[in-house]
Amino acid sequence: MFDHQALIEKSKQYLWLPFTQMKDYDQHPLIIASGEGVCLTDTQGKSYYDGFSSVWLNVHGHRKAELDEAIRKQLELIAHSTLLGMTNVPATLLAEKLVEITPPGLTRVFYSDSGAEAVEIALKMAFQYWQNIGQKEKQTFITMKNGYHGDTIGAVSVGAIDLFHQIYQPLLFKSFKVPYPYVYRHPSRDREQCKQDCLQALHHVLQEHHQQVAALIVEPMIQGAGGMITMPPGFLSEVARLCREFDVLLICDEVATGFGRTGRMFACEHEAVRPDIMTVAKGITGGYLPIAATLTTETIYEAFYADYTELKTFFHGHSYTGNQLGCAVALANLELFERENLVEQVAEKAAFIAPLLQELASLDHVGEVRQIGLMAGVELVQDKETRQPFAWENRMGYRVSLKMRELGMLTRPMGDVLVFMPPLCSTREELQEMISIMRQAIEQVTQGEQA
Ligand code: PLP
Repeated sequence: MFDHQALIEKSKQYLWLPFTQMKDYDQHPLIIASGEGVCLTDTQGKSYYDGFSSVWLNVHGHRKAELDEAIRKQLELIAHSTLLGMTNVPATLLAEKLVEITPPGLTRVFYSDSGAEAVEIALKMAFQYWQNIGQKEKQTFITMKNGYHGDTIGAVSVGAIDLFHQIYQPLLFKSFKVPYPYVYRHPSRDREQCKQDCLQALHHVLQEHHQQVAALIVEPMIQGAGGMITMPPGFLSEVARLCREFDVLLICDEVATGFGRTGRMFACEHEAVRPDIMTVAKGITGGYLPIAATLTTETIYEAFYADYTELKTFFHGHSYTGNQLGCAVALANLELFERENLVEQVAEKAAFIAPLLQELASLDHVGEVRQIGLMAGVELVQDKETRQPFAWENRMGYRVSLKMRELGMLTRPMGDVLVFMPPLCSTREELQEMISIMRQAIEQVTQGEQA
């Protein structure tokens, strides 16, 4: 059906792939041709489990009939019209739905096309909110160490993964980086101690600098790209409380965690946290089309609502914002969530895989297994006792992921943390099989490594 070899040559000749050292791609090329359910098939007909939901997006599987149909139906009306000064039918209905399902207090929806843009908008919105109400000194942000919020310059400015972000330092605006409770790497190795130390550090920054701070941005309950690092219980709610105390807006970045991924519709629900601004993307369309949104409160919205000449307008927008096909499929996706009771199912499936994942912790080079809902990370280490990581040049996470590919599952590691984020619709059997592939790959690649 496909001229596999010709496609491979063209991909090597013309493409430059995101977050990819092209030398790696040239050595291990792969072209996906189709998908069905939780599997992807390449141009040679080899099938793989989509073990990372095509970068954390896919919800109901590939080629879900209801989602395909929603796009076809919308196509019969129109594919796209602008949201500048007007709206469209699915964008309007989706906004209503998003307000209904997100935490109380969020009443306004501002669309964009990717998680990074949703974050960019959240930052500009928070900044301008304080400007519009006359608190002009509130110009900076607090962010968590090792956090990730996307790759545009604003999002990188509040990001803190040195490997990705260091090089751009001269281009970035200032933000305060506070410690994140990475218990496994905290000297005490104690969850409560680690949590208290981090909260104390945040308290200190807020006390010293709150008059300059517009907002704090956080990935609720788990840092994704930072290495699937779960927060100790009570941390997020305490962060939210401190933000309120010091009059700093709270931005919850639910781009990765939103739409059922953690076993709740949104991760901040685990601790009944009500953000002032929330960003969503990825799972919003079930993994079909690029829609993102930034939600906020009426208080913030009202600070922008004025005569045009007062110059309080939010001057931000993108050409494809509120795309009708995307909004239509997002609506169909959210209907499926309800019809299939998906969030409850995720919680059940998460409980089912928890012991299977924890069994991996008995392997010689697995330091820790972290999981919330269907979002999990397996941290590989050279030495379990001392928690010493593998040497960076060893590329252990990458090598194990390549082995998984060979064994029939695709995922993408974060350094030496293996990522497991299967489509939410995966059955117990499929989940079991995926974890078994992960186990085999770890065993085969780490065999013979010195402990
Ligand atoms: N925020 C978080 C928490 C993310 O995990 C990501 C992507 O992984 C982003 C923002 C950026 O989203 P996008 O890749 O759609 O720009």
